[in-house]
Amino acid sequence: MRIDIATLFPDMCMTVLNESILGRAVKAGKVEFNCHQIRDYTLDKHRRVDDNPYGGGMGMVMQADPVYRCWEAVCEKMGAKPHVIYMSPKGKVFTQQKAVELSKMENIFIICGHYEGLDQRLIDSIVDEELSAGDYVLTGGELPALIVCDAAARMCEGVLSSAECFEEESHYGGLLEYPHYTRPEVWHDMPVPPVLLTGHHKNIAAYRHEQALKITAERRPDMYDKYMQNHNDEQKKK
Ligand code: SAM
Repeated sequence: MRIDIATLFPDMCMTVLNESILGRAVKAGKVEFNCHQIRDYTLDKHRRVDDNPYGGGMGMVMQADPVYRCWEAVCEKMGAKPHVIYMSPKGKVFTQQKAVELSKMENIFIICGHYEGLDQRLIDSIVDEELSAGDYVLTGGELPALIVCDAAARMCEGVLSSAECFEEESHYGGLLEYPHYTRPEVWHDMPVPPVLLTGHHKNIAAYRHEQALKITAERRPDMYDKYMQNHNDEQKKK
């Protein structure tokens, strides 16, 4: 997978992407991240990439042309058209299902907005989808873009040791994950649930599933209802 990010803060993005699990995946050639400074693509001699909004109002608007030229350069270099995402609070809220979908794509181009956002004509011209990190407004699209990169790239083959690492996690299968415990066996008078010490894989799996159902019902009744609905549908089909 290759992800290109168009941003006014490429160093901010690369610092995060070169660390930890993603950094190791980059070094191992499992994923590739390229961050592009949008200012490098403006024709303005002062490297300006924003201007006042037509119709008046607060703030500045990012111009279409520098981002468009950046996208053109990336397309030309890779000889293909990547899937284009604009990070925006007006987009669809990013989910694990979307991360799974993106993890199967070869080339993604993410645009990080700033100020009041992007000229709509650029969005209309090249953007395939707008994704939001959640129902709040941030100063820029960099943090949301990094969330998308992390969530999608960690599911690419070879980034984690096996698919099991993410398939059992919260959200992947429609439930929140069961609780985890590690050494020591008793900590501050609190013992580890005894079943986890038995080595009986079937009982442990059943206990964990029960815990996952419980925690999901308590914290996310919306997810729980959906899971039970799908599960009942599957049972009916059998
Ligand atoms: N004026 C815009 C609005 O009201 O929808 C908000 C612009 S915001 C200050 C600047 C940029 O940050 C946006 O263009 C977008 O790229 C990014 N951004 C802010 N909040 C975001 C969110 N929740 N999800 C994704 N991107 C976000």
